[in-house]
Amino acid sequence: MKIICIGRNYADHITELKNEKPTEPIVFLKPDTSILLKKQPFFIPEFSNEVQHEVELLVKITKVGKHIDKKFAHKYYDEIGLGIDFTARDLQQQLKQKGLPWEKAKAFDGAAVIGKFVSKSRFEALDNISFSLKKNEQVVQKGNSSHMLWQFDELIEYVSKYFTLKIGDVIFTGTPAGVAKVNPDDVLAGFIADEEFFKIRIK
Ligand code: ZN
Repeated sequence: MKIICIGRNYADHITELKNEKPTEPIVFLKPDTSILLKKQPFFIPEFSNEVQHEVELLVKITKVGKHIDKKFAHKYYDEIGLGIDFTARDLQQQLKQKGLPWEKAKAFDGAAVIGKFVSKSRFEALDNISFSLKKNEQVVQKGNSSHMLWQFDELIEYVSKYFTLKIGDVIFTGTPAGVAKVNPDDVLAGFIADEEFFKIRIK
């Protein structure tokens, strides 16, 4: 399986990082080795002094497809989840400045937290899903899918122009504002509405 990540999909996070608003989605990949294993803590890698959390809604692909029209995109996923796109921000800034790819900052081991998934039929509207991240019991990130620049179906249309989507692939749909550094002993818990989707400890 592969993980397809979308960058800069929430206007407030674009402002926070002083990035330009994109005219098309920003796309990068994480390999399957970046998935944090269940019940394991996240170890801050030695090559970064500024690993930040990015809480994101996830879409799990259930059907093989290529060049999927957004009208039909809803047939390619049944479940929505929540996860974290861990980012070595210091390293990413250096790479960005040099115009180099971001993989070392985004695709390292453990950088993809994939929490549980639930049926999309549980949501009244996919473009109105509230989610949040708590760090040590305090809410640090809050988002709603209504604020995404590109909705799930539009993202599927866009990314499937470039990559064949396969069963089990996961799309990380971008983070809202509030990204911040994690420190040893922090506990991060992700919620959709009031339901917990993951909880992890930082080491
Ligand atoms: Zn992200």
